[in-house]
Amino acid sequence: MSFRELGLSKASVEAVERKGFSEPTDVQREVIPLILDGRSDVIGQSKTGSGKTAAFGLPILDLIDESRKEVQTLVLTPTRELAIQVSEELRSLRGRRKIDIYAIYGGQPIGPQIRALKKAQIVVGTPGRVLDHIGRGTLRLDSLRFFVLDEADRMLDMGFQEDIEAIFRATPREKRVMMFSATMPMDVLLLAKKYMKKPEVVIVSRDEIVPGEVEQEFVEVSPARRYEVLKRILNGGFYGIVFCQTKVETRELAERLRRDGFRAEALNGDMSQPARERTFGRFKRGKTEVLVATDVAARGIDVPEISHVVNYSIPMNTEQYIHRIGRTGRMGRKGKAVTLLAPDEVGRFRSIVRRTGVKVRRSELSEELPREYREMMRRETLESEYRRRWSKQRPRQRRRRY
Ligand code: ADP
Ligand code: MG
Repeated sequence: MSFRELGLSKASVEAVERKGFSEPTDVQREVIPLILDGRSDVIGQSKTGSGKTAAFGLPILDLIDESRKEVQTLVLTPTRELAIQVSEELRSLRGRRKIDIYAIYGGQPIGPQIRALKKAQIVVGTPGRVLDHIGRGTLRLDSLRFFVLDEADRMLDMGFQEDIEAIFRATPREKRVMMFSATMPMDVLLLAKKYMKKPEVVIVSRDEIVPGEVEQEFVEVSPARRYEVLKRILNGGFYGIVFCQTKVETRELAERLRRDGFRAEALNGDMSQPARERTFGRFKRGKTEVLVATDVAARGIDVPEISHVVNYSIPMNTEQYIHRIGRTGRMGRKGKAVTLLAPDEVGRFRSIVRRTGVKVRRSELSEELPREYREMMRRETLESEYRRRWSKQRPRQRRRRY
């Protein structure tokens, strides 16, 4: 089935042809007609890198009333980099149409944004800055028709929920709400209902959330030798992201790698916005081969040539794992994801990856550790597990900041 047969306008069909898309992906095949004909809200889930942006972007572009210079569509994303990327993708899908699309996000001067918002028809933004503009009265949503949450499960979790609710309150009753992500846990689906009217739920891939093209491995290595193993991975032809848990760690690791001759740079939320954009730009152009990043780069980022993703330490949960490794293996390309683990983390890791539906191999780079060492590590894990279970204190929910 072709893009034309899905009911898209000539302008949209021309735009995808110019972009070189030969046929729609599964999620596009299902979601495009639903948005075009229907009146319903939509929840869409499909693998990382399967074209969700165009799945909502193309039909929404077709439904925009070009003659009305008001904000008709608002797309929210969890990071600034993703807001920029989504606005660029929408611009490239717009073709010849005169539709004004702007990205607004924090860390940028507000003046130019205010001017741009005067004629914007599609706004893509991060929640904080969007709320800021709503508060100033420079972003008016009275004529909003489409409200899209990209990476919806992330947008509805603790860190963003309050902001999202406040933004919802600024939108008119009559609008269509759309939510997209590769991961849609059941609790999020239930929560999503709060914001939606009888949504059509399109689940494209329940069993395989990460494309099978991503070869997944873990390396079991003692913390002392972890850096050496990373260097061996990087030496084997590498263009990709090394994920760390903290901002400090990204900075230190990138510096150490640079001293060892790698073209590495850190990307984290402590950097000024211009520095963030320059760093990310150099990575996209291939000037930097190793991006050492926090989860600012985990969600939605599409750099099709990325060959590798490394988790420098164990991911916190299944969602984090999926979105990180989904930065490679985009749209049918091959990719490799390697996770570095201390010996006592292997068990926990296996339970984290169980839901991805793909086999994770133990890499031959793994160390053969002496039995006493393993046993010692196991005992330590058991002890901390024991403490965790029996201490009354519940882990506090924190606002996540990358
Ligand atoms: P997702 O949001 O599902 O992770 P994206 O929307 O970021 O995926 O799209 C991934 C990449 O695939 C982008 O570079 C996009 O331009 C490209 N793409 C989207 N649809 C198609 C298609 N039908 N054929 C080929 N490439 C496509
Ligand atoms: Mg996406």
